[in-house]
This record gives sequence, structure tokens and C-alpha cells, in this order.
Amino acid sequence: MSLSLVLLGSGSSGNATLVSDGDTHILVDVGLSGKETERRLAECGLTPQQISAIVVSHEHGDHCRGIGPFAKHLKVPVFITDGAYAASGLVIDESRRQRIESGRAFDVHGVVFTPFAVPHDAADPIAFRIEKSGVRIAIVLDLGYVSNLVAERLKGCDGIVLESNHDIRMLKVGPYPWALKQRVMSRRGHLSNDGVSEYLTNGFDGKASHLVLAHLSEKNNLPDLAMLSAQRALEERSSLVSLQTRLDVARPDRVSARYRF
Ligand SMILES: [Zn+2]
Ligand SMILES: [Zn+2]
Repeated sequence: MSLSLVLLGSGSSGNATLVSDGDTHILVDVGLSGKETERRLAECGLTPQQISAIVVSHEHGDHCRGIGPFAKHLKVPVFITDGAYAASGLVIDESRRQRIESGRAFDVHGVVFTPFAVPHDAADPIAFRIEKSGVRIAIVLDLGYVSNLVAERLKGCDGIVLESNHDIRMLKVGPYPWALKQRVMSRRGHLSNDGVSEYLTNGFDGKASHLVLAHLSEKNNLPDLAMLSAQRALEERSSLVSLQTRLDVARPDRVSARYRF
């Protein structure tokens, strides 16, 4: 095994993904509370002291909320863009803050991260391609649509975590105020089930063994609906290419399976 990933939580109540190569354990976003992050890490058999680094996608609370409390007693580096750092209100000791930017790869004990820009209404939002020993995975949350750059970065990935935020019909008739509905639906908002289907039909190369649908809205989506929609899109593709991809849906309130690559 070169890499594994576990979603400790996913959705507007908090995102945190654990990436491991067996020795090095890295958290991508800490959007759960410090305590909850610790509790869910324990479910994976890890203590906070075993975390080597924290990597941040953008400054929204559901990705950043737990960084301060969780990292307070840890001496781990926090990899974050200048834009996200300035907008986050976080105070991270200069000796621990690692400045990153889209397009420039960085290395955490041999696990190589390539950040790339995503369309989202944050200061400098990024997603990640992560590589070790020829294995590639991608964590792509919070994006309004799958841009050409995103589709390009997802090519050749063995595992993909991709936002499948809302069902457009549920969102339209749902409880959100109109302004928020517009924000979610916009090109810098969140990716819909239809957006995922569109990517699977037109952009996906079929390489990934696992595709995990993530960041589902609890008000404007249903796990079965997201799954069905993606499944249908994959089935349409399977007449053209042989697809080995297994689909799964991450839940906000529980730790996911461990996906191994
Ligand atoms: Zn966001
Ligand atoms: Zn988010």
C-alpha cells in the first residue's frame, strides 16, 4: 500500500480527511472541532501526536474550524496559502506556517501534494492531487463546477474524493433563503449531483478504483440520490470504456471506510 485515505467527516458540519502512507499521517482540512477530530482519529487508531502535518484547502469554517484548538499543543506544520491564511483569522506561529500556492508542489515526508485552483467563493481556494510511489489520489471539495484545470488534474488518479453537494431540485424547493440558494448554485458555489454526472460523462477517464462522493448537503441532498445519479452517469460511460470504479458516499456524522491504493 502506498496511500490510504479516510474521511473523518464531510459536509457543512465539518470536513477533515486523513491521508496516510503507513508512517506519515496528514490531515487535509480540520473542520471538525478539536475534540471531535481527536475522537474520530482515535477510531482510526491514531492520536493527534501521530499527525505529521495539516494541509488547508481554504478558509471556510467547515474546513478550518478545528485547526487552532487541534493544533494548539502540536508542533506540526500547517500548509496554507497566504490568501486563506489572511482570511481565516488563524494565528499560526511563523515557524510552523508553510506557505503554499496553486501549481507549486510540496512534499510532506515523501508524500507529494500538488495544489490546484478551484472555482469557489473563498480567498484562494485550492484542491489537491497527492502522490506517493506512483499512486495518485485527489481531494476536491467545495467547487462551483469542474473546470478544465480540475478535470485535467483528476486524470490518472487512482482515487478521487469529489464534492456532490446538492440535488438542484431539492435545493430550489428547499429551506435556504434565495440569496444562499443562488450562492450555492453559482459557478463559485458548490458542485451539484448533476455537475458530478456531467464530469463523469464527459471528463472522467475511468482510472480511479474508488470515487467517494463527499460534502453532501444535509438539507438539499440525499446519499441515495447522489449515489444513483453518479451510478447512472458511470453506467452510461461503461458502454464506451471498461470502468472498475467503485462508488461510495461519505457521511457527515461518521468516519468513512479506509480506502487503500
Ligand atoms: Zn467553502
Ligand atoms: Zn465546505
